[in-house]
Amino acid sequence: MNDRSAGLSEAQLSAYWMPYTGNRQFKRDPRIITSASGCYYLSAEGRQIFDGLSGLWTCGAGHNRREIIESIAQQASTLDYAPAFQFGHPKVFALAEQISQLMPEGLNRIFFTNSGSEAAETSLKIARAYWHKRGQPEKTKLIGRSKGYHGVNFGGISVGGISTNRTMFGSALDSDHLNHTLLSENRFSRGQPLKGDYLADELLELIQLHDAANIAALIIEPMAGSAGVLPPPRGYLERLRKICEQHDILLIFDEVITAFGRMGKATGAEYFGVTPDILNTAKQLTNGAVPMGAVAVRQDIYDTFMEKGGPKYQLELPHGYTYSGHPLACAAALATLGILHREKLFERSSELALILENYIHQLKGLPLIEDIRNCGLAAGLTIQAAPSEPLLHPYLIAMKMWHKGFYIRYSGDTLQLGVPFIAREEDLDGVINALAESILEVA
Ligand code: PLP
Repeated sequence: MNDRSAGLSEAQLSAYWMPYTGNRQFKRDPRIITSASGCYYLSAEGRQIFDGLSGLWTCGAGHNRREIIESIAQQASTLDYAPAFQFGHPKVFALAEQISQLMPEGLNRIFFTNSGSEAAETSLKIARAYWHKRGQPEKTKLIGRSKGYHGVNFGGISVGGISTNRTMFGSALDSDHLNHTLLSENRFSRGQPLKGDYLADELLELIQLHDAANIAALIIEPMAGSAGVLPPPRGYLERLRKICEQHDILLIFDEVITAFGRMGKATGAEYFGVTPDILNTAKQLTNGAVPMGAVAVRQDIYDTFMEKGGPKYQLELPHGYTYSGHPLACAAALATLGILHREKLFERSSELALILENYIHQLKGLPLIEDIRNCGLAAGLTIQAAPSEPLLHPYLIAMKMWHKGFYIRYSGDTLQLGVPFIAREEDLDGVINALAESILEVA
């Protein structure tokens, strides 16, 4: 035990099986966060740590926002819980309406979940059930994309394309995948790369192979986040949109990272100018304060369920979670949307994105850096593999960063940055300088 473990005993450290964490390494060298405010965490040993990924892409408005805390506290003392099935509470309806105002036109029916993974499952189930309701129950196949991330449940890992998320578990759903859009000729592109729109035509090949009569939906992140920030090539999303329309395939955008400000707009759909049929959100919706996800669905899809729902008391969609639209999550989300609007944080995120683009590309030319990408207020770097240990370098760099007072994400062969919308240029300067130093120390 040391001051870094915040007084935790060996038994306490051992008891917790940490998610997506190298448990053995962590428990030898704990990184414990005890409080947070604005863009900074406080570590157990009393160091200030800059939050270079807004939590896990969650806390764009900064940590411990008073309005959110008060809204949750007020709700907890008024109505802690109401059954989500067959009953409702006022805030869940108010929130659904507010979210629908931020979604692309027509996507105005909102289904609540508790996470991005559940949003993925929900969207895939709605897609299949929609075709079932329309008298085409054979349309069940789901298409995802290599390097795609749609959470960790069985539907999500089946359509997902990060192989390490699937190797131990297998695939549970009938799915196929497009190739990813990371092309070597686009290395070091700023924003959306110029080449690669033709990759969308791979969907035509999958349609030829499987027949559109058997395909329910295509699910993609408009900008892949977890794989290391992969912006779509110019024209690519537009082309996919067209093919889906021509072949009666639903297009699902997984916007768990990109919705509510990360792209400087309410959604990636708005930023890229392409509207899906179903749009999944989570993360920034409550500024990370309470778990929540929301799936926005085209009104006519919802209407199909209502029209073909049988007797009025009958469930139109036998799906939902005990904690769907939880009162505390709704309180947190309503306060978050209020802050995003009042403080014009989409605009602020958009302005900061330009500064991030300039700073991050200054790292080009340093050793180990194979690629730098950015889009919205997000950036990803591909880091050269160490001999026989492909994932070592990103980990070592991220640990150096932590010890210098900066939290950034390392995942696979990438490092990822997604600073809070409220960060200042000085913060970006600090994080990029520390990153350059850390890379040089590891190289
Ligand atoms: N979908 C996308 C695009 C994500 O980035 C994530 C999380 O990073 C998820 C789904 C899963 O969200 P959660 O971890 O809340 O289940």
